[in-house]
Amino acid sequence: MREQLAGYIALQRLLDRRTALKRERDTPPEALTALRTQFAERHDKLEHARKRRETLQGEQASLQKEVEALREEREHFRKQKSQVTNMKQLSAVVSELDHVESQLKGKEDRLLEIWQELEGIDGDIATLGEESQEERTLREQAEATWEQGRKAAETELADVERDLRMVQRELGEAAMASFKKLWESRRPNAVVPIDGTGCSACHADLRPSLVQMVRTNEELQFCDHCRRLLYDPEQFQASA
Ligand SMILES: [Zn+2]
Repeated sequence: MREQLAGYIALQRLLDRRTALKRERDTPPEALTALRTQFAERHDKLEHARKRRETLQGEQASLQKEVEALREEREHFRKQKSQVTNMKQLSAVVSELDHVESQLKGKEDRLLEIWQELEGIDGDIATLGEESQEERTLREQAEATWEQGRKAAETELADVERDLRMVQRELGEAAMASFKKLWESRRPNAVVPIDGTGCSACHADLRPSLVQMVRTNEELQFCDHCRRLLYDPEQFQASA
């Protein structure tokens, strides 16, 4: 009976370890997650800034052409204005000139706005670029450390799986069937140590006679309250 109980305890501990290792393997450290997020955000901001710069540069180029054309037009009307021979011609040319001037002003104002926004974007891109260099080293180191930890967990996980198979074989089919039944209804803690005179899982106080039977472990004993299999931690140390 003691052997069977020892086997169950070993299974419970191996299953606990397996759960912990899987979590370790699948959960990157918070610091790394923060670095990854920071990197992704910076990357997105840079992308956004570069796209915006491209758009603005495109608008700038076409505006510059339009401004040049309008300036030529203005020159043309100014010459015409100096050559008019009557009031009717003069007012027609002045009206054309006004129209060109106002178009020109709108486009020149927009060009100035674009120029200012481009200055800001260039500054942002330079700042974002500078920071990413030192942070890249930090991030790559964190990634490498995490990768090592992940591999170590993976290796230990394989050992745990092997030990689990070994304990299962040693217990035999009948004992394994009872364990599985217990496990199905009480996972992830089916086999629990007593805590003084209480159950460490549900914290119920145990009958003194039950505590005594757990300590002598002649038979498998279950918590009256949560029906988990109990054992005395003094007799089954964690290293066992
Ligand atoms: Zn209990």
